[in-house]
Amino acid sequence: MNRRNWMKVAGASPALLAAAPPPPPQPSLETEIVRLKLKHTWTTTMSSSEFRDTLYFRYNSGGLTGRGEGAPIVRYKESAETAKRAIESIAGMLQSADPWKYRKILRDVFAKIPGEWAAKSAIDIALHDWVAQKLGTPLYKYFGLDAADAPITTFSIGIDTPEITKQKVLEAEPYPVLKIKVGLDKDEATLEAIRGVTKKPLRLDANEGFKNKEEAVRKINWLEGLGAQFIEQPLPAHMHEEQKWVRSKVHIPILADEACLRAEDIPKIADAYDGVVIKLDKTGGLLGALQMIDTAKAHKMKTMLGCMVSSSVTITAAAQISPLVDFADLDGNLLIANDPFSGVRVQQGKLILPERPGLGLVKVSG
Ligand code: MG
Repeated sequence: MNRRNWMKVAGASPALLAAAPPPPPQPSLETEIVRLKLKHTWTTTMSSSEFRDTLYFRYNSGGLTGRGEGAPIVRYKESAETAKRAIESIAGMLQSADPWKYRKILRDVFAKIPGEWAAKSAIDIALHDWVAQKLGTPLYKYFGLDAADAPITTFSIGIDTPEITKQKVLEAEPYPVLKIKVGLDKDEATLEAIRGVTKKPLRLDANEGFKNKEEAVRKINWLEGLGAQFIEQPLPAHMHEEQKWVRSKVHIPILADEACLRAEDIPKIADAYDGVVIKLDKTGGLLGALQMIDTAKAHKMKTMLGCMVSSSVTITAAAQISPLVDFADLDGNLLIANDPFSGVRVQQGKLILPERPGLGLVKVSG
């Protein structure tokens, strides 16, 4: 019964007024742009910055708050402002929907909003958090997963001068596997600095930085000799045929990141890569990520959960499904100085999932 009918009935009969339950209050929605400050200036082949803005989304209903976050990816022409506007444009639809039917809601959201995958992810995460909190169960249990299967995460060493790079490697002592950005002129100096202070296995990400297939093969074979386990996206995403050639000339696995955003992309790139990088901000949330993991496995490809620079909201959400993947690169929250929440923790590199209901977040500041 909607509010107007209820008022009519109530006005017509005092007896009915006592019997009729009040309509449930509508959920309240909040969006907020949060500026995350990086501990170190962050440099990749694409950008260099000292902070990142992400979009927080809160879904308040029945005394519980479902929390979501989206970290918009500049490469796909998204920003925190466009994400905020996208959510606000469908606020009425979200407020009138039943959160228990969240898969149906998300289908409608995806149909209504073109692009804006970070905004979609924020909505998806918040609804999952709300539903699992309401059930009183951690999200990974809701998905039927075993927290003991959560993988080790890499810890990223941002590109810097050799001296600062060495310092960062020493600070990363608790993490058994390091992730290094390559594809820049400084690669040799960076790798020399790192190998000067550690023998840890390295996972590499070129972010489309190698200019041609010959350079990619030369660099990858050199990096393999330095202990690289695998490399992400050596060539620009569109260079599919060149990537197939590179794959035939090297030994270590090559993972697609920029060349593979969602499950539907996997069949198109499966003959050129050995695995895929799954990010909630690319897939539009947990449902899209689960679909991507299953599709990759069906193509006998390796899976890695990755992330953008974001707070413990996104990282904890991704960690909840990490028992399903081969590798994790979920360190976005470890790179920031003002994380508003704590959730997933890392012990000797292993992701430790919270036992609290939903995402299991605890507010720590702000
Ligand atoms: Mg990458």
